[in-house]
Parts: sequence; C-alpha cells; structure tokens
Amino acid sequence: MNETMHTGRLPIHDRRVEVTEVGMRDGLQIETTFVPTQRKIELINDMIEAGIRHIEVTSFVSPKAVPQLADAEQVLAGIARRPDTCLSALVPNLRAAERAAGTSINRAVLLCSASDTHNRKNLNRGVDDTLAALPRIAALMAAQRIGMYGAIATAFGCPFEGDIALDQVVRIGRAFRDAGATVLVVSDTTGMATPLNLRRVIGALRDALPDVELALHLHNTRGIGLANVLVGLEEGIRRFDSSVGGLGGCPFAPGATGNISTEDLLFLLDESGYETGVDLNQVIDVALKMERILGKRLQGQVMRAGPRLRLHETNAVATAAG
Ligand code: ZN
Repeated sequence: MNETMHTGRLPIHDRRVEVTEVGMRDGLQIETTFVPTQRKIELINDMIEAGIRHIEVTSFVSPKAVPQLADAEQVLAGIARRPDTCLSALVPNLRAAERAAGTSINRAVLLCSASDTHNRKNLNRGVDDTLAALPRIAALMAAQRIGMYGAIATAFGCPFEGDIALDQVVRIGRAFRDAGATVLVVSDTTGMATPLNLRRVIGALRDALPDVELALHLHNTRGIGLANVLVGLEEGIRRFDSSVGGLGGCPFAPGATGNISTEDLLFLLDESGYETGVDLNQVIDVALKMERILGKRLQGQVMRAGPRLRLHETNAVATAAG
C-alpha cells in the first residue's frame, strides 16, 4: 500500500521526521493553572516512554513574566534522561542563558520575533537589541557544549504589524546562523502561515542561508496547521514542533491559540508514509493525562477518535431504530 504513495519511493533518510514536543513550554506558559513540578516531570517521562526524542521541556524566561515555568531547574533535574533523548529549553535572553548554562539541557532554543512590535511585547526589547546579545548567549552555550536552534517568531505575520518583510526574516535567520545555530525554527506564533506565504518564507531562507536546516513551528489558530505541515513536507522540511493535545499559545499576542497537536501530526505522518519512531497510542494517553491534570478539554482530534483502525465493539453504540 505504502509503495503506491509518493513517500514510499523516498529514501529512508527522507522519510524520517523529527517531532519536537513543545507543550511543556509553549502549552503551559499560557495556562492559568500551575502544574506541579512532579506532574510535569511525570508527563515528560511519559513522552520519553512514548518514543519522543526531542522535547522542549521548559523556558528560562523570567519567573515573573511566566510563573508557570518558574521551576525550570527542578523539572530538568527530575527527568529520567536517556542518552538518545534531546531535552531543549527556550533561552530568550542573556539572563536565561546564564541559568541554562548551569543545567544539563542538550539544546538551547534562542528566540527573536521577526516583528519588532511582537518582540517588544514578548521579550521587552527590540529586534536589534535581541540580535546584539546573541554572540554572548552563544558563547555561554558553546562553553557548556549546549547545542543551539534559533527560533524566528511571527515569521509568517504579526497581529500588530501584519506581513513581515522577507529581508527581515532572513536577517534574523542569518544572525542565528552566525551565532552558531544549526537549525532555524521558522515559527508561526499566531497562526498566520498559509500554503503561499509558507513557501515564500521557506524559499527566501533557503536561498539566503542554504547551509542551515529549517524546522517549522506551527499553530492551528485558523485550522490549517496540518495543511501547512503537508506544504512543509513538500518543501523538504523534516522537523516539526507540536504539542500534546494541541496545547499552547503566546501570552503576548491577541487571539493566539494552540500548536498543532502532536497526536494529529503523528497520525498524518504515519498515514503518509513518514517515520517518527513515536508511538501514537502512548502519546494519546499522555494527551488525555494532560487534560485530566489541567481539568479542561484540549483541542486535539485524534486523541478523541483514536487511530484509524481502533475498532469498536458493535454494541458500543445503539442501532438505529427505524
Ligand atoms: Zn508557539
């Protein structure tokens, strides 16, 4: 069956997709409930058990700005580590880098918005100041052998500034690359990516920075998150961020909602012939557990319906009377 699909003809290295779970950071930062540290650790350990090998576990953002993630160091210390698992954290400024350097994270995700206005809302400083701090942050990370990705937020549009000039997106990508980031996480912070502007932004970054890998961080704000994944796959992207249950949203952007859900993404990838090494059923269990912990219904769809061939007892539903 797979052989008839276009992915069936792709060489194995082209079928592998790196899924980075970001719900513990992007998701929990917007929740009003503080999830107890021990529960966070348990959820992350469950994710590792499910086969997820890239997890953004927290942020070293100021605890005053995001109290939900104030326990970053304690969470990291409690995780049952595996040598093949990469734990990352958001490192949005120099102070955060100093904290990160004292921990055992594998990767720092540096951050800058393409929109100057959003960057001021999110990081309390302009783009130029954020980029100027990158070399010192990078030096701290390099000294600890911590890898670096660079996330370009609002790359596909900003709720305050609208479309962002491609030059500006490329300028930030170049600054990350020059600082030593090996992957640019092109981020649709508020769900403004479309198949058309996604191809444009990815194309501009590829043309200007052919030596750096690209990842996509998509939100499902307008319901086309997974459609954008398919476009990304066509464009050769093999790294995607997602969150269990579709948790997530930027606290500093009006109308922002959740990331694409990890279960929905895994379902799409599995059923399209890509390989992730992640067990969908186990991730569904993590999403359901997250829902119980937060005490609210999450947005994921596959977590409700289950995998396509999860069959039900014929008497599980009533038979029509007429
Ligand atoms: Zn996000």
